[in-house]
Amino acid sequence: MAGVVVVFDFDKTIIDVDSDNWVVDSLGFTEPFERLLPTMPWNTLMDTMMGELHAHGRTLDDVAEALRAAPVVAGVPAAIKAAYALGCDLRVLSDANAFFIDTVLAHHGLLGCFSQINTNPSHPDADADGRLRIGPYHDLHGCGVGTCPPNMCKGQVLDRILREASSSAAGRKRVVYLGDGRGDYCPALRLAREDFVMPRRGFPVWDLICEDPARLQAEVHPWADGAELEETLLRLVGRARVEEAALLPPLDCKLESMPVAAQEGMGPIMPLGVKH
Ligand SMILES: [Mg+2]
Ligand SMILES: [Zn+2]
Repeated sequence: MAGVVVVFDFDKTIIDVDSDNWVVDSLGFTEPFERLLPTMPWNTLMDTMMGELHAHGRTLDDVAEALRAAPVVAGVPAAIKAAYALGCDLRVLSDANAFFIDTVLAHHGLLGCFSQINTNPSHPDADADGRLRIGPYHDLHGCGVGTCPPNMCKGQVLDRILREASSSAAGRKRVVYLGDGRGDYCPALRLAREDFVMPRRGFPVWDLICEDPARLQAEVHPWADGAELEETLLRLVGRARVEEAALLPPLDCKLESMPVAAQEGMGPIMPLGVKH
């Protein structure tokens, strides 16, 4: 079986808030955050805020405790577990950071469902008594789409995921991409005709898609809440499995027993998703 790769954004897709804002607000640092916001890129600001928290005596445990209290989108953990149980290859693609995402997913028992977490690097600085350092994913990405932040082009990361999905001997894996934000528009543009994009209805990526739907090749299946996400995702995964089974008859037994005339009428049999 070729299978399905499911790529999840994190903020406002798996959890129902933005984890950066949630941590800053939970620990009482909204005022300095808003004061510094116009002066530097978001990714640099979050690293700076981790320094502020540390300077005011907030530990990494305090940050983790705030993250564990962040609300998930109700129904999404069940959807993740169900897709994993069906054999999907799950990835995270997020402009948050590794420590935030690992902490939240581990707390909800979801970390083991994901084969890959693609996000901004972060690590406790041993020389600075555990202050969290947050860096950019890309130093320079040069993406021209215009909706990607300077530190991360999710489209370029998705290109790598698409290449991996094509390298399977069993045929190209189909990709389902779920997200809500402006940064999710660039990867949505790069999905192919056989892939699916699941934008959160009413959020920035949905508005961008609606401006010119013809720019996308992938099928668009919006969702508004966790129940709709779960129902839609599992339906698409089920459909991909049925279509794959229909397109890929077991060559070793069926063709041999089939009359020659029927074989001639079938045309070339090719794996799902191979384009010419
Ligand atoms: Mg998001
Ligand atoms: Zn981009």
